[in-house]
Amino acid sequence: MSQRWQVVLSNLVVAALFSEACASGTNKDFDILIENGKVVDGTGNPWFYADVGIVGNSIVALGDLASKTARKTIDAEGLVVSPGFIDVHAHSESGFRQADSNANLNYLVQGVTTVVTGADGGGTFNVAEIKTQWETLGIGTNAAHLVGFGAVREEVMGMEPREPTAEELQKMRSLVRQAMQEGAWGMSSGLEYVPGRFATTEEIIEVAKVVGEFGGVYSSHQRNEFDGVLEATQETIRIAEEASVRGNSTHFKIARKNNWGVMGEAIQLINDARARGVEVSADMYPYHFASGGPIIPVASNSGWAPFHLPNDMEPFAEIRQRLRDRSLPDSERQTLRNRYIDELAEALSDESKREQIRQSVLVGTPNRPSSVALAGWDSYLVVVANKNENLIGRILSDLAEEQNRDPFDIAADLVIDEPDLYVACGVMSEEDMKLAMQQDWLMFSSDGDARPIVKDSDEPSISHPRSFGSQARVLQRYVGEQQAVTLENAIRKMTSLPARFLRMNDRGLLLSGYKADIVVFDPETTREHATHADARRYSEGTYYVLIDGKITIDDGEYNGSLHGKLLAFHAEGPGESAR
Ligand SMILES: [Zn+2]
Repeated sequence: MSQRWQVVLSNLVVAALFSEACASGTNKDFDILIENGKVVDGTGNPWFYADVGIVGNSIVALGDLASKTARKTIDAEGLVVSPGFIDVHAHSESGFRQADSNANLNYLVQGVTTVVTGADGGGTFNVAEIKTQWETLGIGTNAAHLVGFGAVREEVMGMEPREPTAEELQKMRSLVRQAMQEGAWGMSSGLEYVPGRFATTEEIIEVAKVVGEFGGVYSSHQRNEFDGVLEATQETIRIAEEASVRGNSTHFKIARKNNWGVMGEAIQLINDARARGVEVSADMYPYHFASGGPIIPVASNSGWAPFHLPNDMEPFAEIRQRLRDRSLPDSERQTLRNRYIDELAEALSDESKREQIRQSVLVGTPNRPSSVALAGWDSYLVVVANKNENLIGRILSDLAEEQNRDPFDIAADLVIDEPDLYVACGVMSEEDMKLAMQQDWLMFSSDGDARPIVKDSDEPSISHPRSFGSQARVLQRYVGEQQAVTLENAIRKMTSLPARFLRMNDRGLLLSGYKADIVVFDPETTREHATHADARRYSEGTYYVLIDGKITIDDGEYNGSLHGKLLAFHAEGPGESAR
């Protein structure tokens, strides 16, 4: 933690002690009064003028409160006052464990007050443990955790590509039960990933039934987001129906240019399911490109990079082994890296070696198909290029078509010419996205994570901009510029809709009796500044953020406080319906 923050924090401790001491001695009506703002209350109803009175951690009054007094008054004239945003797909858990990122500041500055963690099947089942861990260090936003099907399966069966025995299935069910008892809000799955991809639908249903007993949710990174998206959506619906859980297709997308336009059919599947009484929904991050990486991962295979080569492929195995050594000095790393690219260029000019590389890139192995096999060349969008700047925004298969060449040859040339060239894997149609946004049941999310607080000396870092920009982008691009959704509806999709889906019954609305998670912002000047090339840039437009009635963003500045908690799902337990 920088010294500056330490000073801010120690001042806060003093301020907190002082305010505690005099709070009981005052005769004020409210602790905090937010006046003159346009209230967008989270229901989707049109904005209205109202003041908001807060006592302790709760909203206690809403209306014309001009005659009332408060210990602290916030003038929200010209600004919107809404419930704090709830992001149903975030990966803040590792950031919460570290002192430079536990503030979740990249979310706070966008008005997010609660993130749902444990997405994509990865959420730990030790919920009590993370609660202690996170709250001991302190966290900047609230969190609601999902136990991960993948984490549970890995604990019981490792990474084995087979069905579980009856005993293993029971073990998985009991780990999920433990997590639900400790406060998880449901279960996530990541069926495109190992080990989730090894599970049959029936296996997932049996495990998800435990979640159903508690009235929790099932949120799935579906088995396929490319050509098989309709079957994958049907699978989510079937799991919801047969396990009696509320189902959610998370970061709902139809990737690959070849599949653009299929969104209408996917939406129909969800609408048909809902029409027959199956409660399913979806969330979406507001970007038409998914995450990615350098066109070739140099040291070891990672992410969705198209040019994956097995770690043991000769003649580069040894060089890549050395590149995996994290203690390698930068200069040596650069030399090795250049050598690797030279050797690769030579290998690609040898006919039989080139064929071997082509097979790895196009096919992969039966248990781990290559990302090109899963995604197709029409999924790769160039997002950062220094040498080949003219390629930014282009899809690899389009380049191949224009040049009448094989996409592999195009990619192979780029690997040699600019190995750092950064591609997103998964390119979506914005028209498809807007169609989905207009569905009542679609929530907005980010799929980002808690990043370290940015210092002035930080270099730009290449990554997906969603951690710093998702909520701001919804407001700037899809409400303001494209008018795909109204402000009120966009806010509903970031507040009461996720709260309702989770059955979080005391947040997500500006209503008397609700917890005072509140954001005050200017939708006209909200801007996302993060880009792929410079992904750690804070959004702007937010003036105040309150978590449980405590100010954390104050007149546009983070005050260093950590008021978040890991919220527990108030289920009544098996046999009781919390739905
Ligand atoms: Zn995912």
